Amino acid sequence: MSDARPRRIAALVECLGSAHLDGLLLTSLSNIRYLTGFSGSNALLVVTPRDVTLITDFRYQTQVADEVGNIARVVVEPASLWTGLWRHLAALPNMQVVGFETSHIQHRDFQRLVEAGARWQWRPTADLVELLRERKDAGEIDRIRDAAGVATRALERTVAEIRVGLTELQVAGVLEKALRDEGSEGFPFPSIVASGPRSALPHARSSTREIEPGDFLLMDFGAEVGGYCSDVTRTVVVGRADDEHREVYEVVKVANERAAKGVRAGMSGRDADAIARQYIDRAGYGELFGHSLGHGIGLEVHESPRLAKTSEAMLAEGAVVTIEPGVYRPGWGGVRIEDDVVLDANGSQLLTHFPRELIELG
Ligand code: ZN
Ligand code: ZN
Repeated sequence: MSDARPRRIAALVECLGSAHLDGLLLTSLSNIRYLTGFSGSNALLVVTPRDVTLITDFRYQTQVADEVGNIARVVVEPASLWTGLWRHLAALPNMQVVGFETSHIQHRDFQRLVEAGARWQWRPTADLVELLRERKDAGEIDRIRDAAGVATRALERTVAEIRVGLTELQVAGVLEKALRDEGSEGFPFPSIVASGPRSALPHARSSTREIEPGDFLLMDFGAEVGGYCSDVTRTVVVGRADDEHREVYEVVKVANERAAKGVRAGMSGRDADAIARQYIDRAGYGELFGHSLGHGIGLEVHESPRLAKTSEAMLAEGAVVTIEPGVYRPGWGGVRIEDDVVLDANGSQLLTHFPRELIELG
């Protein structure tokens, strides 16, 4: 696989030109990783049309050389990264207008720009790299596919272990061990395991509640491979499902299937969301589907684009998005079914291959 980084940096430099910036200071670690490969937790990156320089600290001396190679000049700064930044910027010719990432800078660091960095003009920018990241290349899609495979295999192993009397946290433990065993580098977000009435909380924290017979058990979790995330949800019934379980489950399942099949590049995030939302509305559960249909995944578990009522933006070819309709009845329970799909020239391809049919355990 050819090195994608020079292409990404060239695309960003083109954006700098159209934004009339002499350079860009990057503070988002995910954006820095995307452009340079550096996966450490402390870095600043400066991109200009002629120079890419990454500033990090002593802890990453060896790692940065391995990961970044010669894609960027590396400065290992013994004092503060900001001291290194001022020195570096002062050495660059013709630097006047420098962009910074408004969504990824703390206020105290912004103060540094306007005080210690007062000799440069600082311009706010938003989503310059995020929009490049929306369009995944083949290597990125392969990693997300691998992360999706890890997640679905971990779920198969977990489903075999679930039984009445286990707590949500114990199930989360089984799930997270299985994710590690299958090769996940980390947990993109704290795994959600929610049982019984707690499954009606769309973003529940796993608790010490013990699973009871006839509970819905909702599991929402992800895997990470090569820095790329997957994000999957399945809801099962522990014991026998009743008619109400079946009815709600079927509505969410069909909404998921329709949206996963119908979503494509070139459609707006709003139209994608509507595929599932209209179906759930017509079934009479519209009020109980209170969140948006999905979001992009990649180096981060929530990234551009958004599949939401409020999103007019067109979905890009190469985007990888989640499809996660849900119906939640407070005090009773809820169902969410979440899959990951890649939008390509032929429509959408499913990356998470775990059955959507209702599973009754035990
Ligand atoms: Zn999820
Ligand atoms: Zn999600």
